[in-house]
Amino acid sequence: MTSEPAQRPSSGQSPSPRGSEEELQATIDQIAAIVTESDYVVGMTGAGMSVESGIPPFRGADGLWTKYGTPRMDGYSDFKKDPTGWWNRRTNEKIDAHIVELRDALTNAEPHKGHYALAELEKQGSLQSLVTQNIDALDEKAGLQNLIEIHGNRTKLRCIECGDRVSLGDFVPLFAPDPCNQCGGVVKFDTVMFGEPIPDDVMAASRAEIDKADCVLAIGTSATVRPASGLLWIAEASGATIIEINPTETKLTPICEVSLRSTAGEALPLLLQTLAI
Ligand SMILES: [Zn+2]
Repeated sequence: MTSEPAQRPSSGQSPSPRGSEEELQATIDQIAAIVTESDYVVGMTGAGMSVESGIPPFRGADGLWTKYGTPRMDGYSDFKKDPTGWWNRRTNEKIDAHIVELRDALTNAEPHKGHYALAELEKQGSLQSLVTQNIDALDEKAGLQNLIEIHGNRTKLRCIECGDRVSLGDFVPLFAPDPCNQCGGVVKFDTVMFGEPIPDDVMAASRAEIDKADCVLAIGTSATVRPASGLLWIAEASGATIIEINPTETKLTPICEVSLRSTAGEALPLLLQTLAI
C-alpha cells in the first residue's frame, strides 16, 4: 500500500460546504436522485466509517501513527521469512502501544447507523455491492451481503498459497495455526499486512464491481491508500458518477459529481429515508 499519486485536474463541481439542515437535505436529495437513476451502485468505504464506531485511524491528526510514529512497512516480508517466528513473537513480545490501542478498539466496536443504513440500501436494491477498505468486520455484522473486504477481515485466517479462508469467530490463535487443510500452505490473518499484495481473488472481484458500476458512493475514505483508492479513479475514467460523503475535502473531491461534508452515520440514514419517500 502506498500513497495516491498527484491529484488529477478538477472535473467535478465545487464541494458543498457543510451548512444548514436544509442544505444537507438538498444535497441528500441530489444524491438520492443520482442513485435512483443509476443501474449499478457500488459503495466504497474507508477508515472514516470505522472511526464512527470508535476505531482510531492510522493517518490524520488523531491517527495512531501521528501519536505513536509510523510503524515498519515491511510486515509481510518479515512474516514470509519466518511465519512460525512471527506467530511466536506476536504472542510473546511486548506489543507496540498503537497495536494495543487498535486491538482494544476493534474488539469493542459495533456497527453504527451508517453501516446499518448501507445494509438496508443493499436490501432495498439501491446499493449493489460494497467494497470496504476496513478490516473490522462491521459491514458483515451489519448485514451487508455482496461485500468485498479489500484489506481482509480481522476475524478470518487465510492461506497465502490457495487463498482459502477460515472464520475465527471470537477465537484468536495464540500460536502458529496448522497449515491450510486444502493445500498445506502457510496460514496468516486475512488482514492485508504492510508490503503484502491484495489477494488476487479480492482484487479481481473489486475490479469487476467497479467495472459494472455507473455510480460509486465513496464514504469516509481519504482516497490515499493504493491500490484500493485507484479503483475510484478507474470508475471515474469509465464514466461512473462519483459521490463523496466525507466530513472533509479529499483527493477525490475534484472528480466527484457531489461531495457531501457529513459523516456516514448522519448522511446514510438520511439517504435511506429520502429514497423511501
Ligand atoms: Zn491453501
